[in-house]
Amino acid sequence: MRYSAYRVVKEALSGHRGWRPLWRNPDPRPAYDYVVVGGGGHGLATAYYLATTFRQARIALLEKSWLGSGNIGRNTTIIRSNYLLPGNEPFYEFSMKLWENMEQLLNFNAMVSQRGILNLFHSDGQRDAYRRRGNAMLLAGADAELLDRDQVRRMAPFLNFDNARFPIKGGLLQRRGGTARHDGVAWGYARGADLAGVDLIQNCEVTGFRIEDGRVKGLETSRGYIRAGKVGVAVAGSSSRVMSQAGMRLPIESHVLQAFVSEGLKPTIPGVITFGAGHFYVSQSDKGGLVFGGDIDGYNSYAQRGNLPVIEDVAESGMALMPMIGRARLLRVWGGIMDMSMDGSPIIDRTPVEGLYLNAGWCYGGFKATPASGYCFAHLLATDTPHDTAKAYRLDRFERGYLIDEKGMGASPNLH
Ligand code: FAD
Repeated sequence: MRYSAYRVVKEALSGHRGWRPLWRNPDPRPAYDYVVVGGGGHGLATAYYLATTFRQARIALLEKSWLGSGNIGRNTTIIRSNYLLPGNEPFYEFSMKLWENMEQLLNFNAMVSQRGILNLFHSDGQRDAYRRRGNAMLLAGADAELLDRDQVRRMAPFLNFDNARFPIKGGLLQRRGGTARHDGVAWGYARGADLAGVDLIQNCEVTGFRIEDGRVKGLETSRGYIRAGKVGVAVAGSSSRVMSQAGMRLPIESHVLQAFVSEGLKPTIPGVITFGAGHFYVSQSDKGGLVFGGDIDGYNSYAQRGNLPVIEDVAESGMALMPMIGRARLLRVWGGIMDMSMDGSPIIDRTPVEGLYLNAGWCYGGFKATPASGYCFAHLLATDTPHDTAKAYRLDRFERGYLIDEKGMGASPNLH
């Protein structure tokens, strides 16, 4: 759907009454072959790839609130593929390649901006760990450069290089990393899925699963019972709550993560900068606001708002890294619920209930995974086999001890 410049001007001069909604607003039908639960980035991308790449039909997506009301619209928009472990790096690099083609595929401007991401290091030991990580990235086909202190100084002269606790010694740079407009991503996948025939059903909360003889038959929802051939659950911060309705206990804890935006400033920060040692990261939006964050709130919660001690902590880390941030006024703060898995890596797998599939455990880092998570989950739902890059994301790894312990990337200290 392309709009001519003439159409844009005409609408502007006539009160914008001619635009149509980007997707339909259908009522649920009694039965579908596939039901995806959760209208965040992962659910929408799953529905989109199921209907397009995997050519499946009779698909519904159920969202308890409005599309994009969860973490997809609450994150700090960072995309990257700078992981270390073999279970993770090929998946995140696959995701990065999908990001690079996503706007063309969806014909939607999601403001994907490969402005680079720089992870700072402060000791020789940390430098060696980053060198190893960079090598793992290169081996998986990603890009990585190890910068010394002078190279970092040329990129970001405003940083406090000699702060007493964490003097900056250099950084690991991924130039293809960057940011994307988070809600634009949800809207792009939603429109694409709708055009491909998916029923996107909002204000429809899943309240229970009907399971007979070990197989899922359908879903109890706030809009009535819906029969389903296969059900894929992608509800991020609500994973443990929703899966408990199917009798499952997940190796997941829910915590709040907060995000912060300052007043608009002139262009200052070239890309994304992470200060893992101090639990702080920052980028600058196209409107000029500094977008930053830090660690999760320490207690378990399902509330989508955080607490003052973490705000103070993040502000303190920001001041340690770039004291000039103390001059900027804070404009907005909000929170989202993280589904923190016990090894920092996600789950894309079948469950012990036949026909019920799970996509969960994205911790701080699921935004960057959105395209690959959707693609791989759709692959699993459609073919009953895991995608090559997502084979390690098994649910039983927590029982068997085969953890993909990338807490350093899925969670802090390398951050989001
Ligand atoms: P969501 O958008 O949360 O989607 C889940 C949906 O399920 C919600 O819309 C919810 O309403 C719905 N739902 C829940 N229960 C039910 C039910 N019973 N029935 C029907 N629907 C239901 N990741 C990065 O990669 N980079 C970052 O920079 C980054 N920064 C972050 C900063 C913050 C402050 C936060 C909160 C997160 C950040 N993340 C980041 C993480 C990332 O946002 C999440 O991992 C990712 O968005 C989760 O997947 P999702 O988009 O599908 O989740």
